[in-house]
Amino acid sequence: MASPSIVWFRDDLRLADNPALRAALDRDEPVIALYVLDEESDGVRPLGGAARWWLHHSLASLAERLLERGSRLVLRRGSAAHAVREVVQDAGAGAVFWNRRYGGPESAIDAGLKSDLRAEGVEVASFAGSLLFEPWTVATGSGSHYSVFTPFWRACRALPAPREPLPEPREVPGPERPPASDRLEDWGLLPTGPDWAGGLRDTWEPGEPAARRRLREFLSDDLAEYDRARDEPAAGATSMLSPYLRWGEVSPYTVWHESVGVDGAGGFLTELGWREFAWHTLFHFPDLATKNLRTEFDAFAWPRLKPAHLKAWQRGRTGIPLVDAGMRELWHTGHMHNRVRMVTASFLVKNLLIDWRRGEQWFWDTLVDADAASNPFNWQWVAGSGADAAPYFRIFNPELQAKKFDPHGTYIGEWRGDADLEPIVDLRETRNAALMAYEDVKSAA
Ligand code: FAD
Repeated sequence: MASPSIVWFRDDLRLADNPALRAALDRDEPVIALYVLDEESDGVRPLGGAARWWLHHSLASLAERLLERGSRLVLRRGSAAHAVREVVQDAGAGAVFWNRRYGGPESAIDAGLKSDLRAEGVEVASFAGSLLFEPWTVATGSGSHYSVFTPFWRACRALPAPREPLPEPREVPGPERPPASDRLEDWGLLPTGPDWAGGLRDTWEPGEPAARRRLREFLSDDLAEYDRARDEPAAGATSMLSPYLRWGEVSPYTVWHESVGVDGAGGFLTELGWREFAWHTLFHFPDLATKNLRTEFDAFAWPRLKPAHLKAWQRGRTGIPLVDAGMRELWHTGHMHNRVRMVTASFLVKNLLIDWRRGEQWFWDTLVDADAASNPFNWQWVAGSGADAAPYFRIFNPELQAKKFDPHGTYIGEWRGDADLEPIVDLRETRNAALMAYEDVKSAA
């Protein structure tokens, strides 16, 4: 009797360089590919709207590719631990494989499941697939974690180089009778009434083949200009790989090895380092999305929320052209250029004096690359409360930023909002108010 192997896909929706899939294939039993939509387990953050849209298309692409190779993607919904065990039983599976996750609640689910399944005699193994340097492998001289990027990255680079990526399997033989599966359409991941995803469809093609194409195009067409032009939002000089990395449609090992020898790749590889650092930070501080990393910021007295200000920011109607252009790009495409993310975030926190958590939540709902580590990490970086953060008193001036990084107004022109809007706040006055409010934090430090 066959005892199939289960590959539990999570944030690794790809066939190439997938160590869990490789392990399942090496076991020489039929392979069941499983994805669980977990909206029930305690602490697992529900996906935002743009992320749900991406997930739908990414799963559709993965299912198609698996089918071409001989296996059906099995979809289940519910608490992950329960759903995986159910499939193990339904299929009489002898082994379960997955690539590791690093968020607090997710790691706890995986550890519990691993020990329960092993106690029942099921083989379980997990692998490194989503990070180049797993958080516990990088430690300071005194054995603790890093809170500053430069020494963190230096320590990573001193470790053995990331392993070579694994080739994509040609066949993934499934069982004769695969376990029952939900229908993707029934999960309701796509927006209806209204369908706001038109801009996302125009901008993106989710899935592993598109990820590989994007990587190839970036390396051949844009990488040479990356260091010079990466801060200019109109230049199109960055990789646009963030959603593909977020969903694991391309592995960081593949990105690393295809870029590392290329002339001028240093700056780009350092950005991958920031992604690693964000996850390092989340692993050691699982409450990154809800709590200030630097606790002295708990003393910051956020004024009462002005809902009209928050709404103006969300809709790109603040009257500050670069901020509005960024927020409109985000709403339309599910993406925003990094420099503009910093400017819009700084404006929310330091000119509107709105708690960074509100902005983080909006980005979480609207970004196709919404990432459990990178999003809160960067919000806290901008707010000043995070790891290796920009000091609170360094406040981006959106007008100067526009002059410097969009000197011809190309980006602002592309995402222009209502030209007649008056700014909702005075930049100078609000900057001074923010600096005064910050005095409380300084005295609490
Ligand atoms: P490139 O410049 O081509 O960089 C290559 C890759 O490096 C990116 O795809 C990404 O995986 C990684 N990277 C680059 N910059 C950062 C960074 N600062 N922190 C972590 N990883 C980085 N990035 C996300 O992937 N998800 C998020 O939810 C997210 N939220 C952000 C929120 C704010 C307020 C800010 C300021 C930044 C945020 N970023 C986030 C980081 C960054 O803006 C995006 O990764 C980048 O804009 C993606 O575009 P790209 O792929 O063309 O980047």
